[in-house]
Amino acid sequence: MKQEKVLVTGGTGFVAIHTIQQLLQQGYTVNTTVRTMQKKDVVVKALQEAGIAHTGRIHFFEADLNSNAGWAAAVAGCRYVLHVASPFPAAEPENPDELIIPARDGALRVLKAAVAAGVQRTVLTSSFAAVGYSNNTPGYVFTESDWTQPETPNRAYIRSKAIAEKAAWDFMEKEGGDMELSVINPVGIFGPALGGISSASLDTVITGIVEGQITETPPFTMGVVDVRDVADIHIKAMLHPAAAGERFLATSEGAMSFADVAALIKKERPQLAGRMADLQPVDNSLYVHISAAKAAKMLNWHARPKEEAILAGADSFYKP
Ligand code: NAP
Repeated sequence: MKQEKVLVTGGTGFVAIHTIQQLLQQGYTVNTTVRTMQKKDVVVKALQEAGIAHTGRIHFFEADLNSNAGWAAAVAGCRYVLHVASPFPAAEPENPDELIIPARDGALRVLKAAVAAGVQRTVLTSSFAAVGYSNNTPGYVFTESDWTQPETPNRAYIRSKAIAEKAAWDFMEKEGGDMELSVINPVGIFGPALGGISSASLDTVITGIVEGQITETPPFTMGVVDVRDVADIHIKAMLHPAAAGERFLATSEGAMSFADVAALIKKERPQLAGRMADLQPVDNSLYVHISAAKAAKMLNWHARPKEEAILAGADSFYKP
């Protein structure tokens, strides 16, 4: 049995619940935050559905990214912090600050509390949104050296992730002390919803396509990664000595348009095809290229194929 305690922020989230599941399975004790204790049961129920019998090793704390309250208690005694929580709504907010302020100030609150508590390493969940949205060059291969500039006129969510990650690295330079920071930059996260906990990526793309709400192919493609592999890379980055001070793109091989997702589901799950629109393929020049070579080389992290991530997501909504 491991003695280490890990704080995972935002236990009600899609990525967080899979990460907590893997940590508990590996013998860690887990602290997690919820915005209100009323949401505790959602997390416990999801873990029970996932077959976790050790919910005695998870402890709940109330904390909101918009407030200082609760963070010191949540992080006390933790060797590691995985700061996963950040607003990820399906719809664009009226005011971008609704996302930017909790993303940035919340990350700073968590980092400050972690430094004060003597945490060894924090892993921050950033996004490809903080990497690939200031460069439209066709064929360009994105790596961890690329940055989305906060001033590029992107959607609020994209800006929130770029601004929050940049603020986190700036904080580390000035006030990080002995604590280490690693950052994970996942692409679109799919894979199974656990115990009813889903997220905007799954809801928008999978149900949007299967229910026939998406009727045209938007002119872009996305990297795809499975939530189980995203949880795994967080734990690898938490533990690997060389991960300190590094950011890691997390993606499976290749990219998909919404038309590719629809074609895959139609082929492999024909029973779901009934309401799906006929989506037109996108031009080859629109395929995004994102390298996961760094995580493979440094962390020995390998993502399952994008098709498996999409189908596992579909299967968790529409039982095969
Ligand atoms: P999610 O299921 O929507 O989870 C978001 C979590 O953040 C929830 O636990 C939510 O709590 C919490 N949260 C939001 N605002 C908060 C606030 N003001 N105070 C405290 N907690 C707050 O989304 P997810 O997919 O798991 O996302 C997890 C992380 O991965 C995020 O940092 C996201 O940016 C990043 N990411 C996601 C994707 C993707 O495709 N899903 C891709 C790249 C990166 P409530 O349940 O109370 O709302």
